[in-house]
Amino acid sequence: MPKTGVLIVGSGSAGIFAATWLAIYNIPFTILERRPGPLEIGQADGVQVRTVEIYDSFGLAEDLLREAYHIYEVCFWGVDDEQEYGGITRKSRSIDTETGLSHLPHVILNQARMNGLMLGKMEKIMKEKGTWKEGSANGIKYGWTVTGIEVDQSTVADPDAHCVRVSATKDSAHETWEAKYVLGCDGAHSTVRRSLSYTMLGDSTDTVWGVMDIYPVTSFPDIRRKCTVHSRSGNLMIIPREGGSLVRFYIQLPAGASPKDVKIEDLQSQAKAIFAPYPMDFAETFWWSAYSIGQRLAEQFHKDMRVFLTGDACHTHSPKAGQGMNVSLQDGYNIGWKLGSVLSHLSPPSILQSYVQERSKTAADLIAFDKELSRLFSRKEEREGEFAAYFTKSGRYMAGFTSRYEDSLVTRLQGSQEQEASKVGVGMRFPSAQVIRFCDAKPVQLQPVCRSDGRWRLFVFAGDVRRVQCRERLNKFSRSIEHTIQRFTPPEGHPDAVIEPILVLATRLKETEQNMVPDVFSPKTGKWGIKDVHKTYVDDEHYNAGHGHAYEQYGVDEGKGAVVVVRPDQYVAKVLALEDAVGVETFFEGCLLEQRAMVNESSKH
Ligand SMILES: Cc1cc2nc3c(=O)[nH]c(=O)nc-3n(C[C@H](O)[C@H](O)[C@H](O)COP(=O)(O)OP(=O)(O)OC[C@H]3O[C@@H](n4cnc5c(N)ncnc54)[C@H](O)[C@@H]3O)c2cc1C
Repeated sequence: MPKTGVLIVGSGSAGIFAATWLAIYNIPFTILERRPGPLEIGQADGVQVRTVEIYDSFGLAEDLLREAYHIYEVCFWGVDDEQEYGGITRKSRSIDTETGLSHLPHVILNQARMNGLMLGKMEKIMKEKGTWKEGSANGIKYGWTVTGIEVDQSTVADPDAHCVRVSATKDSAHETWEAKYVLGCDGAHSTVRRSLSYTMLGDSTDTVWGVMDIYPVTSFPDIRRKCTVHSRSGNLMIIPREGGSLVRFYIQLPAGASPKDVKIEDLQSQAKAIFAPYPMDFAETFWWSAYSIGQRLAEQFHKDMRVFLTGDACHTHSPKAGQGMNVSLQDGYNIGWKLGSVLSHLSPPSILQSYVQERSKTAADLIAFDKELSRLFSRKEEREGEFAAYFTKSGRYMAGFTSRYEDSLVTRLQGSQEQEASKVGVGMRFPSAQVIRFCDAKPVQLQPVCRSDGRWRLFVFAGDVRRVQCRERLNKFSRSIEHTIQRFTPPEGHPDAVIEPILVLATRLKETEQNMVPDVFSPKTGKWGIKDVHKTYVDDEHYNAGHGHAYEQYGVDEGKGAVVVVRPDQYVAKVLALEDAVGVETFFEGCLLEQRAMVNESSKH
C-alpha cells in the first residue's frame, strides 16, 4: 500500500494551495484528481483583493496583475421608468474597492489560470528544494477517482500513524493509499464528505445559474464595466474579462430550471431581453455552463483532526459576491501551513483545531452574507437604490477583509495589548504601509515582506532610536527575543528560519546607521553565512515616493513602540508592548515546539 504524509483529494483551488504549502515545508504529499489534467477553462473568475495579496506573498502578483482585468468601478442599472416601453437605465455608479483598503486591486482572472499560476509556483519550489523529478507525477496523480476513505480508530491517537485509508480507481486499476492526514478538496459533491456521512445543512432547494463567457456585439455603454442589471425581463451581472473584449454574464434562471435542460440559446435570449432596447449579439461564445447551487454548510469540517474538508466540499453559495474560488483557496491556504508546521515537528498537532474554528466561522459568515445579497438581488427594490447601497456597503466584506479569527493557539486576542498598535486587528490580516528599506533606501510595502515561506514574523516598532531611551529599550528587548527565536529554531536551521525579526524605526533615514540596529535583525544566513541587512525599515519621507506614515497607519506611538506577531499566512497573532518580551515567548510556547532544549539547558550553566 503506498504511504504518504498528506493525501489531498482534488486539485481545485483549495487542493493546490494546501499542496503548495506542503512543498514549501518539504512534506511528502499526493493529490488524487479525477480529471485527466489541470483545469483548462471556465468556473470562477472573481479575485478578491485579499486573494491578490496572497498571490503577492508567493511572488505571483506581477503575472496576475498583468493578465487580469482590474475593477475600479461598479455600475447599477435598473428599469427606466421614464420610458413607456420599459428598457434600462444607469441608476448609479460607485467605487469598487474602498480607498486605502489595500495596496493591491480587485481583479478578474479565470480560475484555470489562477490554478495554473499556483501549480507553476509549486513546481518552482520543488525544483529549488531538489524534490522535483522530471517525467514523474511529482505528487499529482491525474485520472484517479477517490471512492471512499476510512479512519483507523485503533491508531488515530498516534500522531505518526498513517491512520487514514483512501481508496481510488483509475480505469480498471484500484489502489488504496495510507496517509497521516487527508484533505477533502473535492468540490461540492465531495466523496470524502459523503464517506464520512456528513450532511450539508441549509437550503433544501438549489438556485440555477447560467454563466457565459462571450464576445458581445452591442451598443450597451458599460460593457467594459462591472454592472448589475435589474430589468423587467430578469436580472444579470456583467463581469468584464481579461484580454479586452471577452465578457462574462451571470444570469439567475427562474425557479424550477434544471441545469441539464438549459441551452445556450436560453441564456442568449434571456440576455437579449434584459438588455433591450440595447442590441446584444454574440460574436462568439467562448464557454458557458449552467449550475445549481444551494447555500449550505457541512455539519462538520473534520474527522478526528486527521481528515479536513475544505472549499466547496464544506460550503456552497451563489456566485454573486464573487467569493467561491477565494474562500476555497483560502481554506487550503489556512490548513496548508498548519499541516506543514505540524509535520515538520515545528508545531504541536493541537494547532490544527484552529483551522476548523477559523474557516467554519468564515464559511458561516459567507453564507449569511450571500443569503442577504441574493435576497436583495432577486427581488424588486422596496426603495430606489437599495441594492446599490447594500452592494457598496459590503465592499470591504467582498474584498476579503472582514474575517477576524478568534482566540486560539495561533491567534491570541487574550493578553494582546491592541492599543499599542491600535489600527492593527489581532486575528485580521496584517495591513500594508509604505516604508523605506534601510540598507538600500528602496521604498517598499511592508505587508509583502511577509512572504508565504512558512516563517512567523516579529515586527518590532522601536520608535526613534536616536533617542537613548528608545535605543536602550530596543537593546533590552532584542537580547530577550534572540533567546526566544533560538529556542524554536532547529539547530541546523538559519537563525531566522522559523521566526523572522523585522525592525521598523521612526528615525530619519539619513541619520540612521547600521550600528543602531541590534544584531538579531541582521542574522548570518544563506550559503555563505552573510549578514542579512534587509530586515530594517524606516518610516520616513522617501526621495521619490513620498512618506508612508507607517507608524500612524498602524496606530503605533513613536514614543512607546509596539511588537506585532504575524503568522505565516499574514494574519496578526498578537500585539504587545515593546517591554513585553516575556509575552512574546509565552505566545510561541503555545504554538511552536522547543527545538533547542539541550542548547537552552547548557546556556543556563
Ligand atoms: C461547472 C462549475 C462552474 C462554476 N462557475 C462558477 C462561476 O462562474 N463563478 C463562481 O464564483 N464560482 C463558480 N463555480 C464555483 C467555484 O468554481 C468553486 O467555488 C471553487 O472552484 C471551489 O474550489 P474547490 O477547490 O473547493 O473545488 P473545485 O474547484 O470544484 O475542485 C474540486 C476538484 O476535485 C476533483 N474531484 C472531485 N471529486 C473527486 C474524486 N472523487 N476523486 C478525485 N478528484 C475529485 C474535481 O475534479 C476538481 O478538480 C463553478 C463551479 C463549477 C463546478
